[in-house]
Amino acid sequence: MYLFQTAKELQNHLQNLRNQGLTIGFVPTMGALHAGHLSLIEEAKKMTNCSVCSIFVNPTQFNDPKDLEKYPRMPDKDAQVLESVGNDVLFMPLVEEVYPLDLNTKLDLDFGPMATVMEGAFRPGHFQGMAQVVKRLLDLVSPQALFMGQKDFQQFTIVKSMIQQLGIPTRLVMGATVREPDGLAMSSRNVRLTLEDRQKAPVIFETLNWAKSMLGNMPTPAIQELALQKLQEPGFRAEYFDIVDGDTLMPIEAVPKKHVQIVACTALWAGNVRLIDNLILETH
Ligand code: AMP
Repeated sequence: MYLFQTAKELQNHLQNLRNQGLTIGFVPTMGALHAGHLSLIEEAKKMTNCSVCSIFVNPTQFNDPKDLEKYPRMPDKDAQVLESVGNDVLFMPLVEEVYPLDLNTKLDLDFGPMATVMEGAFRPGHFQGMAQVVKRLLDLVSPQALFMGQKDFQQFTIVKSMIQQLGIPTRLVMGATVREPDGLAMSSRNVRLTLEDRQKAPVIFETLNWAKSMLGNMPTPAIQELALQKLQEPGFRAEYFDIVDGDTLMPIEAVPKKHVQIVACTALWAGNVRLIDNLILETH
């Protein structure tokens, strides 16, 4: 595996590959890698000639400085894991490399209400920061395909919109959410859960599945209300449980056929750890 810390080294290497007619698959991450990330690397290896993984804890997408500070970092272990799964290139840049002072990387894109609902409502500025880093990394890597997880459904939808708005010639591929055996979606933040909260955390996936079983049997606002109650029962503090149209992320009140995909998205606090998850309830 090649390891690069500067944009220049990365770009030189990838240009050589492109000159040989090889395709590049890109998996951006913030590290503390788990099986969810590795499933995306595996997909990139299957679909392209060279898998590029970036590890960069992007300061512009953290609205809470404490969250940024507490974000788990384990670069050596991550590099070992990537090597063991046969990842081809690891890009681990410093902040100055991603955001050079002489380069304006700010994006002026309007994502509309898609970026102000759910995560956007509770993490102001998060998606602008996320889109900024993904655009900058796409400029550096110029991949044929970009692999991102369903785990961050709203993020995926916003990146899809950015790629469309800017006409970026990269195919966006969604990887399924990888879960622990008890249903908890894998997340770098899970390592910060107390033993007690970790034991209660499967309630998130159980509630998403319950909502799926209730769709069509009960008005969606009632499902949302009851789901919030279920999440709070073990002592978690739920922020939202929204049943939305998978394309627009706008709430649906009933289940008319015009929705291509109906998705339940949720976020909650388990102590001082914020967890998100979602489930596709129905696809037409
Ligand atoms: P992160 O390191 O949390 O920024 O995530 C990097 C990429 O991995 C994003 O595209 C996430 O959606 C994806 N990802 C995170 N957790 C999972 C998971 N449990 N299953 C599948 N993909 C995931």
